[in-house]
Amino acid sequence: MEIKQNYDLTKLNTFGVSAKAKFFAQIENESDLQELFKHKEFFAQSGSANRKQNQKIFLGGGSNILFTKDFEGMVILNKIKGIEVIEDNTDTVVVKAKSGEIWHDLVLFAVERKYWGLENLSFIPGTVGAAPMQNIGAYGIELKTLLQSVEAYDIDTGTKKIFNREECEFGYRDSIFKNRLKDKYFISAVIIQLSKTPKINTSYKILQEYLEQNKITVNGPKDISDAVTIIRKNKLPDPKEIGNAGSFFKNVILTSEEAIKFLEQYPTAPSFQENLTVKIPAGWLIEQCGPTSPSLSGTSWKGYKIGNVGVHDRQALVLVNHGGGTGEEIKELAKQIIISVKAKFGLELIPEVNFI
Ligand SMILES: Cc1cc2nc3c(=O)[nH]c(=O)nc-3n(C[C@H](O)[C@H](O)[C@H](O)COP(=O)(O)OP(=O)(O)OC[C@H]3O[C@@H](n4cnc5c(N)ncnc54)[C@H](O)[C@@H]3O)c2cc1C
Repeated sequence: MEIKQNYDLTKLNTFGVSAKAKFFAQIENESDLQELFKHKEFFAQSGSANRKQNQKIFLGGGSNILFTKDFEGMVILNKIKGIEVIEDNTDTVVVKAKSGEIWHDLVLFAVERKYWGLENLSFIPGTVGAAPMQNIGAYGIELKTLLQSVEAYDIDTGTKKIFNREECEFGYRDSIFKNRLKDKYFISAVIIQLSKTPKINTSYKILQEYLEQNKITVNGPKDISDAVTIIRKNKLPDPKEIGNAGSFFKNVILTSEEAIKFLEQYPTAPSFQENLTVKIPAGWLIEQCGPTSPSLSGTSWKGYKIGNVGVHDRQALVLVNHGGGTGEEIKELAKQIIISVKAKFGLELIPEVNFI
């Protein structure tokens, strides 16, 4: 395994922003990982003279990350692959996927074998290893409902730990790995349980409508996977065409009492009841606001462009790099959006994307 220096990360993040890693390594298998753990710089504790150089981050598909500057430590690109069925029961299977697998390849592995569970999570960019980080979710499903455990290595000691579902402390676009243990563990594998018998979830309105309009009968998980893939392709900008990281902010979660007050004030706001909480789409909030500069008064953020960055013209939740934009510019735009939403609605937008 070669350790490179001053490595260009532009092509390794879906925003396509330019940034360099002081050190860079690509891991292809467990022995590369072990070699990395043996590397003396890798073990050096924070607080030493070379603290910045000793920082390390793991990178998957770079689809949920914003490089705001060059990274002074080591970026480790994860390419450790492998998917296997580790338990085959009458009604269920347990599948173990190594973390460098492309997420959608795992979905295809399942749907081709008629294993139910992952189909609603089709076509989410990125790797398996990053999926537990923010408990990926889409079309009415979150990873946490399928996940049995996560295998991870403590990056300071190299020791392996198995986190069961409860220990992952999953929340909405959140987990222990994005919070308390951020950058402390390398997720090496994800173990999920899938169903051999139909577990159809078409409760998500857009999916339901698509299936009805196109007269699609669900015979297998592939029917849902194909539908979700088509919907996503039509709805979301392709990072190959325009730099973006999908939803930049999380939707806002209110308690029932907060939601009643909010909806009295803004009766046209969309809202989704989820157990004891109510979700207000961040995209709607952003659309209702705009730049605070007097000359742009009345302008909505949706479709707004400043320099080479902006807000997507069909999805206000998606910030974009039109080409040549910097991470710092995107961060500043995000900051202005947060300020404007706070000023108008008193609500705090929280970025979903990881800032580096
Ligand atoms: C067009 C588009 C649509 C999207 N749609 C959705 C969606 O519907 N639902 C959703 O939840 N997300 C969505 N996302 C966000 C993104 O796809 C997911 O968050 C995905 O899981 C990120 O995977 P990645 O490998 O690209 O992570 P990266 O961007 O490479 O990394 C994200 C974070 O995880 C850390 N990390 C990565 N791999 C590991 C590892 N093995 N161990 C420890 N830490 C690690 C990184 O250091 C970083 O902090 C979308 C993104 C795009 C561009």
